[in-house]
Amino acid sequence: MRNYTQFYIDGQWVDPIAPRTAQVVNPATEEVSGTISLGTAADVDKAVAAARRAFATFGETSAKERLDLLEAILAEYLKRETELGEAVSEEMGAPMSLACGFHTLLGKGHLSTAIEVLKDFKFEEQRGPTLIRKEPIGVCGLITPWNWPMNQTCVKIFPALAAGCTMILKPPQLAPYSAQILAEILHDAGVPAGVFNMVQGKGSEIGTALSTHEDVDMISFTGSEPVGVQIQKDAADTVKRVGLELGGKSAWIVLDDASLAANVAAATGGMMGNSGQTCSAGSRLLVPSARMDDAIAAATEAANGVTVGDPKGNFAMGPVVSKSQYEIIQGYIEKGIEEGAQLIAGGPGKPEGLDKGYYVKPTVFVGTNDMVIAREEIFGPVLVIIGYDDVDHAVEIANDSNFGLGGYVSGEDLDAARAVSRRMRTGAIWVNGGFDFHAPFGGYKRSGNGREWGEHGFAEYLEVKAVIGWNPA
Ligand code: NAD
Repeated sequence: MRNYTQFYIDGQWVDPIAPRTAQVVNPATEEVSGTISLGTAADVDKAVAAARRAFATFGETSAKERLDLLEAILAEYLKRETELGEAVSEEMGAPMSLACGFHTLLGKGHLSTAIEVLKDFKFEEQRGPTLIRKEPIGVCGLITPWNWPMNQTCVKIFPALAAGCTMILKPPQLAPYSAQILAEILHDAGVPAGVFNMVQGKGSEIGTALSTHEDVDMISFTGSEPVGVQIQKDAADTVKRVGLELGGKSAWIVLDDASLAANVAAATGGMMGNSGQTCSAGSRLLVPSARMDDAIAAATEAANGVTVGDPKGNFAMGPVVSKSQYEIIQGYIEKGIEEGAQLIAGGPGKPEGLDKGYYVKPTVFVGTNDMVIAREEIFGPVLVIIGYDDVDHAVEIANDSNFGLGGYVSGEDLDAARAVSRRMRTGAIWVNGGFDFHAPFGGYKRSGNGREWGEHGFAEYLEVKAVIGWNPA
């Protein structure tokens, strides 16, 4: 059992001002795995005051001092990587191979990327009579979701630290363990008191206290669209900067010259990864209508081949994060059947033999883009295959979405695939796969307004100052 009932404020582990706890449930067993404290606005005030005090000196540190600090954090991170992975698996149900693999690798990658960006970043530039200076924005409230806990926290904390900001992290209530260990790592690495603070608790209390706080300069939020909208409203009165990384309903276009079976299998397997709880997952798979039968065969085989079970065992997919998430996903599967989509794999209920734990069957429908299952973010292992007539039709379907987070194009003719990527209205597009920590990540439309990862993510934490007359004429 984990007992994480203290917050990290001003360089110390402290008790909440008003003691109140909540239990954390292991999604694989449905049993309580530990306890956290739920903070209040008073804890947030304390953390913000510490961050404001610390900013006076940390905001003035040199890039070299911050590089040394980030290197020290990396050394501590590497020592505790397995522990972080175990915490991720326990809190949100990712298989151990994934939690101790890609989950922790993402955190480490954002840390290393922040180091690389900071090494080369030019904070000052002279243009004619003017000096243009990039300065840290100040005190940041970082609000994160549970689905890729290390990715979401590290993609905010490390660029913010690299920029010279101070911060208050509010981790997700469903997945609070890895953030606690991360706070220990930052402490052990010698992050100065008040630079990093962490208060656990409910979004509606801790998150709101941060968004409305007079002395918070910026909120960086990753999570659902409705909460993002609320945060923007809450932050409006204090005119703070708000970076939103929200949901998605990303399309994967398999062009006619692509290997259909291989790409449909890859897209289906990809959709089931992390139990479908990935904001940029290719949840709408667009294939040529004329080849739908082959696509169905490949997707069915791929989905049925995804093994589901105990995160500690050798399975591809674990449970989804919580009972309520399980029920939401079941609702969408029922909805898909009700609205006439063709169910070709999976379906309602739990996989055979998995009565305990929030396990969902890897599910694939063939449907149309007007169906609810093709329009709303399900955030579970549910794929919708949609047929298209020609490339223009494929692009039209892909762009016919309120979201614009990710996109995928597969095709042998690279120029043709690139041309399609230009026409898709989303923040990130993968042409025949690939991975890049320096590529900016964020959404068009209702998928958000910010960019994280690499130099663009770093820039989110900077203000721009013009000093006119720096060079007298
Ligand atoms: P969520 O919006 O319910 O919660 C996210 C965080 O916001 C949590 O820490 C929560 O406690 C807090 N919160 C809740 N209400 C709040 C309020 N009123 N004010 C301030 N904070 C509040 O999202 P979730 O269920 O944790 O995560 C899933 C969502 O996150 C999905 O929609 C997914 O697409 C999205 N997501 C987006 C990205 C991206 O980079 N675009 C990445 C991962 C996840």
